[in-house]
Amino acid sequence: MPRPPRLLDLIGALIGTPSVSSFERGLDRGNRAVIDRLATWLEDLGFAVEIQDLGTDPAKANLIATLGSGDDGLVLAGHTDTVPCDPALWRRDPFTLHEADGRLYGLGTADMKAFLALAIEAVRDIRDTDLKRPLVLLATADEESGMLGARRLVEAGRRLGRHCIVGEPTGLKPIRQHKGIFDERIRLVGRSGHSSDPALGNSALEGMHAAIGALLAWRDELQTRYRDPAFAVPVPTLNLGHIHGGDNPNRICGACELTLDLRPLPGMDTAALREELHERVLKAVAPRGLTVEFEAIFDGLPPMATPADAHVVRLAEQLAGHAAGAAAFGTEGTYYNALGCETVILGPGDIAQAHQPDEYLALDRLAPTVALLREAVRRLCC
Ligand SMILES: [Zn+2]
Repeated sequence: MPRPPRLLDLIGALIGTPSVSSFERGLDRGNRAVIDRLATWLEDLGFAVEIQDLGTDPAKANLIATLGSGDDGLVLAGHTDTVPCDPALWRRDPFTLHEADGRLYGLGTADMKAFLALAIEAVRDIRDTDLKRPLVLLATADEESGMLGARRLVEAGRRLGRHCIVGEPTGLKPIRQHKGIFDERIRLVGRSGHSSDPALGNSALEGMHAAIGALLAWRDELQTRYRDPAFAVPVPTLNLGHIHGGDNPNRICGACELTLDLRPLPGMDTAALREELHERVLKAVAPRGLTVEFEAIFDGLPPMATPADAHVVRLAEQLAGHAAGAAAFGTEGTYYNALGCETVILGPGDIAQAHQPDEYLALDRLAPTVALLREAVRRLCC
């Protein structure tokens, strides 16, 4: 029976298999080649491998590899895609694993392909006869561009397990909460006309000024009403990210567009917030007779909040030696919790290196991660 390569070769093979995902078609590579590599290695270790198509693109798939049987086991999960990169900003080729200064450099070392290799390393000596409950390795597509892989699992109602560790870069400190996210576009359409007489048009830009006033007042209300000291930024945020309107100083602005990003705390309902956002804007703009259009640029990741006393949270705290905290970034954990799989985020990389040129993973994180994952498997599956 062939065996998977050694740990550094596993990591090297994953980094060397590009899997950039992007909303921009020209940059998107798909993740299927990474999935196929993982499938081969895990089959060689005796796992039953299921490849789930995303149904959007044949180059994209999730992998669910199971050792043992049942649906009450531990899931070790990670996304297989990376963000795009600009190789010109890197000192070396981002798709070739390079070891220097006690670090492993490459795109996906911290965020987070290397975690999948570490998970394989941690489980390579486990046999199904050792297990009382199943062990699942889950590798998803498109986390960096809409979380389509995890959402596909939810759509399919795919029961994964009882506990889950997602190896996003947390510096080996457990995370059980993060904020949600949604991004919205607001477009106001009025009428352009000569600037010399306001009656010749209806300014969308002045309408947007009123809308922005209402949004900022609403933000103040939300930040007074909701607060969670577990977060470094303890309040929900609303960022006005981009605005465009009009064309010339001597023309009344006929159309104006604003995009914003809202990040709710756990306990805030994303759908209700979106509805309230629409109401506030409509109310501010209504007297002006402008047309108002809303578009969900990203229809939203709900906040994640795994209970503090969840078994996997307690175990992660014990094994990592840190209390579970809150992250500033979003993860697929929201969706795994929705599938009844209690999730903690715990991985070896550091978020400071994610999405950056010269991304790296410190070599001294490898052994503790493998040891931690082995012990989690022993405690939750054996
Ligand atoms: Zn990630």
